[in-house]
Amino acid sequence: MSEISVLSPASVANVVCGFDCLGFALSAPCDEMTVRIIEKKTVRIVNRDDFNLPTKPEKNVAGAALLSMLRATDENFGFEVEITKHIKPGSGIGSSAASAAGAVVAANELLDERFSKLELVKFAMDGEQVASGARHADNVAPCVFGGFTLVRSINPIDVIRLDFQPMFVTVVHPQIEVKTSEARKILPKQVSLTDAVRQWSNVGALVSGLQKGDYELISRSLEDFIVEPVRKNLIPKFDEIKNESLRAGALGGGISGSGPSVFMLSETSVTAQKVKNAMRGIYSKTAIDFNIYVTEINAEGVKILDS
Ligand code: ADP
Repeated sequence: MSEISVLSPASVANVVCGFDCLGFALSAPCDEMTVRIIEKKTVRIVNRDDFNLPTKPEKNVAGAALLSMLRATDENFGFEVEITKHIKPGSGIGSSAASAAGAVVAANELLDERFSKLELVKFAMDGEQVASGARHADNVAPCVFGGFTLVRSINPIDVIRLDFQPMFVTVVHPQIEVKTSEARKILPKQVSLTDAVRQWSNVGALVSGLQKGDYELISRSLEDFIVEPVRKNLIPKFDEIKNESLRAGALGGGISGSGPSVFMLSETSVTAQKVKNAMRGIYSKTAIDFNIYVTEINAEGVKILDS
């Protein structure tokens, strides 16, 4: 086998109370990627879309992740990666993570699954560092493991794949720019003990709700007392989007990653469609362009396609 194609999914990080630790993969949109072995021990990037992403491997998250993986082998060959992105960079639904995770999962298949999923997460984190300047795993972990993941620690890396019940996701992406650096700058440096206790109680309850399939508990636990109050100001109509989505029957939701996308979870696809209509009703009355996706939590993560 000398080439492998994959579909690498978008993902939601910072799941409400689970800032910097909880994430899940989406069934759509996905990037298409093909990784093939080349003779020289190097990485070549071929972009097949109009996003003008870097072709220097050190500057492209897929390239940086593959370089990190190659450094961990004593092979003399390298990889070429062809990328057709459908996840818009900077949308807050893990565009960079999809490239990093897709590349290493495909390359690992070419290496007869030499590396564990956890090792793949580490390589993909080296890729993510190129995009955000920080090694974080909350998007790449669900891409690699599938489903819902909790990153307990990044050093040493410790990822827990959570059991979860099927849920539908409505994601709205208002076409405005929220700089990750800006969204980081406004975060509180300190939090009160009262807020910290409410937050970690909610994380524990959310994990329990997911595992038991207790949708009411999931809904009650989707509260964020620390990050949402400051970051929501970066997203136009955030409160209206959230209130109308809840009124339409959503379990809850919040800012995806560092925005500008906003996601809502629903128990049924019918409710997820109603949430979509509610979101569309709000942004249609503004001058803001937007996309809305209705999709599901993706249990599989990066999907290897039959050759
Ligand atoms: P998202 O949450 O959508 O991943 P980020 O802001 O974290 O958004 O990442 C996008 C940034 O990463 C952009 O500045 C983009 O130029 C850079 N980047 C480098 N390589 C890639 C890639 N293969 N896919 C997506 N973004 C990339």
